[in-house]
Amino acid sequence: CGIIGYVGTQNAAPILVESLKKLEYRGYDSAGITLLNKTIDTYKTIGKINDLEKILKDDIKGNIGIGHTRWATHGVPSTINSHPHNSGNISVVHNGIIENYLSIKEQLQKEGYTFLSETDTEVIAHLIHSKLYGSATNTKKICDFFTALQQALKELEGSYAIATVCSSEPDTMLAARKDSPLIIGMGNGEYYAASDVTAFLSHTKKVVFVDDLNIVKMQPNGVEFYDIDGNVIEKETTTINWDI
Ligand code: GLU
Repeated sequence: CGIIGYVGTQNAAPILVESLKKLEYRGYDSAGITLLNKTIDTYKTIGKINDLEKILKDDIKGNIGIGHTRWATHGVPSTINSHPHNSGNISVVHNGIIENYLSIKEQLQKEGYTFLSETDTEVIAHLIHSKLYGSATNTKKICDFFTALQQALKELEGSYAIATVCSSEPDTMLAARKDSPLIIGMGNGEYYAASDVTAFLSHTKKVVFVDDLNIVKMQPNGVEFYDIDGNVIEKETTTINWDI
């Protein structure tokens, strides 16, 4: 299982697929990607990365995207349960386990959110949406995407490495972690987020190791690191000096 995110100037789709292949050794039962455009364009399927490639149309585009290989913990291996999970215009990939997902799910269902999957991960997507829009049906934002993620994370118990995008903020990918690995790759005008450096090591060897309860804001012009309260934090870039 693994997550990958790409922010840059190239078409994200082939980069995400290549990175997912590098994460294959971790084991998985399904895979998927979302490309961020004026909409969120999600492709996912049970099976191998080759099966995912078969459903990717040749003309899919997007300079920002997220991807996932899933090792099912909550909900059987299936296309519906595979990641990314979406809520409205928000798309999320997640490694780990949300321990309090059932109580959050019940609350969100009362608020009118409909769940398609059996996963713990889907609560993250709807929870971010509820923080961003205030309700399942509202279409006007009540805060920004970063604040919505920050508020959602404060309610999650368990472990996560998350990458998420929202088409109302089409220049931004957000990532966060707690008790699951998350590493940022600092390329030249392009940035990667992954659960394992091997996912992007063929593109850049400059990396930043993200700490627990940090939030990473990734945009084409750079990467910023924050603590859970939204304070900017300085991070050191390390150069990996081994090859894959
Ligand atoms: N708990 C999530 C699920 O079952 C994520 C599993 C993973 O880390 O791949 O969908």
